Amino acid sequence: MLIFAGTQTNTQTMQILDGIQLAKEIKQEIKSHVQEQVEQGIRAPHLGAILVGENGASQTYVDNKIKDCAFVGFQSSLVRLPTSITQEALIAEIEKLNADDSLDGFIVQLPLPKHIDQEAVINAIDPEKDVDGFHPMNFGRMALEMETFLPATPYGIMEMFERYQIPTAGKHTVVIGRSRIVGRPMSILMSKNGEPGNSTVTLTHSKTKNLAEITQQADIVITALGVPGFLKADMVKDGVVIVDVGITRVDDESAPRGFKLQGDVDFENVKHKASWITPVPGGVGPMTRAMLLKNTLLAHKKNNKL
Ligand code: NAP
Repeated sequence: MLIFAGTQTNTQTMQILDGIQLAKEIKQEIKSHVQEQVEQGIRAPHLGAILVGENGASQTYVDNKIKDCAFVGFQSSLVRLPTSITQEALIAEIEKLNADDSLDGFIVQLPLPKHIDQEAVINAIDPEKDVDGFHPMNFGRMALEMETFLPATPYGIMEMFERYQIPTAGKHTVVIGRSRIVGRPMSILMSKNGEPGNSTVTLTHSKTKNLAEITQQADIVITALGVPGFLKADMVKDGVVIVDVGITRVDDESAPRGFKLQGDVDFENVKHKASWITPVPGGVGPMTRAMLLKNTLLAHKKNNKL
């Protein structure tokens, strides 16, 4: 059961979309499901990860994914490769994982070193094992509203709308950012013929003119641009639903790690106009992690014909 965190503000009763709490519930559901299956003699789902190089943020992301697997009772395997690896050698590693029947799915942590063509690497992943949902085949299936692995961040946002019962049908959703992993798939999912979905979507980007005029008309704004504090209070209307995907490390000497995480939304000012809003951290990020587990569960289901 969700506990809604309500805060009375000047103009609006703002409620927090609590990704930490929701992700906890989802992970608990997955854990119980896996326990039941293991008791019935079905092997636990198995997620693989390839990590290239020493990027600190990427290492943290992969460590967290492995921790999540342990929590829900999945097996996990990590392949660590040096920054200097050639594209051919990386693709050879991917082919090994494609052929490994003990693995239900795997991810290649992005970004990759500059000398490697990211598209070629994504295309080398078996779409049946592409639990990140980045392969063009899976992107196409998503666009056609067929069952597939949805990219984890947009999937997590859709799950948030569903579980918090935020109405999306007939609403005007403005997405800021058109990346292949967040903005563009988000725009497709919000416009799909189903619930949540059925939104009228405007997809905006750095070449969009008069962006504030567009966001002022939005019932729902989803920011995925990576510019801290970009969305200001005067860019939105009262009662708007705000989903902030942005996570930028901003230097902060007073923080234990020397930086803090900041979203794309000027939270302190925008929250007074919002009906619902995600915090950063603690909003979309934890949901993204939980959705990778859901995709792995789907791969395991297909793999074992369950
Ligand atoms: P990305 O690939 O860097 O793309 C950014 C997008 O924002 C581009 O489409 C760009 O437009 C657009 N943009 C940049 N400046 C803009 C401006 N001033 N006005 C309007 N549009 C602008 O982004 P991403 O990979 O989607 O990541 C976006 C943010 O989300 C980052 O902070 C990232 O760390 C975060 N993120 C968070 C999660 C999570 O789980 N919470 C997951 C993934 C990403 P053009 O296409 O015209 O260049």
